[in-house]
Amino acid sequence: MIPYGRQNITDEDIKVVTEVLKSEYLTQGPNIQEFETAFANYVGAKYAVAVANGTAALHLCALALNVSPGDKVITTPITFAASANCIRYCGGEIVFAEIDPLSYLIDIDSVRSLLEGSPKGTYKGIIPVDFAGRAVNLEDFKNLAEEYGLWIIEDACHAPGGFFNDSEGQEQRCGNGKFADLAIFSFHPVKHIACGEGGMVTTNNIELYNKLLTLRTHGIVKSNDLYVNSIELAGGDENYPGWYMEMQTLGYNYRLTDFQAALGTSQLKRADEGLEKRRRIAEKYNSAFSGKSFISGQSGVEAGHAYHLYIIEVDNRLGLYNHLREKKIFAQIHYIPCHLMPYYQSLGWEIGDMPIAEHYYRRCISLPMYPTLTDEEQLFVIQTVNEYYHE
Ligand SMILES: *Cc1c(COP(=O)(O)O)cnc(C)c1O
Repeated sequence: MIPYGRQNITDEDIKVVTEVLKSEYLTQGPNIQEFETAFANYVGAKYAVAVANGTAALHLCALALNVSPGDKVITTPITFAASANCIRYCGGEIVFAEIDPLSYLIDIDSVRSLLEGSPKGTYKGIIPVDFAGRAVNLEDFKNLAEEYGLWIIEDACHAPGGFFNDSEGQEQRCGNGKFADLAIFSFHPVKHIACGEGGMVTTNNIELYNKLLTLRTHGIVKSNDLYVNSIELAGGDENYPGWYMEMQTLGYNYRLTDFQAALGTSQLKRADEGLEKRRRIAEKYNSAFSGKSFISGQSGVEAGHAYHLYIIEVDNRLGLYNHLREKKIFAQIHYIPCHLMPYYQSLGWEIGDMPIAEHYYRRCISLPMYPTLTDEEQLFVIQTVNEYYHE
């Protein structure tokens, strides 16, 4: 059986996890900070906050940015539902923008026309998604966001190690905090770095960083200079007593465990190697499919693409999907447009609202893409696709 994505766990990964299981801390130990520091360095951001999963990361971002009932936030319909749901958790309203038909990323012109169509202040933020591993040009989005006073949460779940080239030709890594206020990552097993469950927020903004730390752990602070209550109320005499702490805002338990963090650090060491393999697999698919009449949407291998997914657009997608399944190749569809989920339809969205995204959805299919996919397996996938179209 060949899935569309798969984790890669080595003996070294197992060893570091086992060591943590035998140590003093299963959670809230030293591995969290080690993982955060290594991850911040990897993406080039100042701060990183490890959390329970990517969805928790998105929720914490929305909370840290004070998303409130009625706030309008723009995102793409071609993403995992969590990118939009985080705004709903806080009572905010999601407005979908169209995708670019070639890159499948949120279309900045569609975002701009939404912004131009409403009085300034209507929208509070944008959540661009580095879909499939292709980095959004966040410099352009930042310029637009500044014009309209918006924040940006970059959903970089698909793109650790990905980058775009800015207007000066500099490589700007996904999640480096230079353009977006906050960026989030997931460590679900189908993503590049697997912790079982896990997530990360990166930022260069110290205020947001401190808020995230507090919100991650129940809204509790433990620091003498931050307390609101008096020493007397706290039960001390000249100082706050050793046990004292304060819950100052309504937070959550969104912590990552220490053994997951150790697994993350170990996996991160192989991230560049994995990225290299993904790019080689993409190159092979590209050359195997170039010129095939049944495929559209093919482009050359792009330097900054992190290739979380390898997507092709085809005629008779259902037929191809079923044919692949018969051969035990489990391709997948990314994504059923978010606005067509019954939940978002219940909020007023309907078929026809996003014609480009809907057209893409009818034709897209994600072929197997993961670092341990062998040459023979990939060849078998390519042959099976070609066989279906008699080419
Ligand atoms: C996986 C994913 C998430 C959610 O991450 P979890 O760790 O599964 O909660 C959010 N956005 C995108 C684009 C994802 O791919």
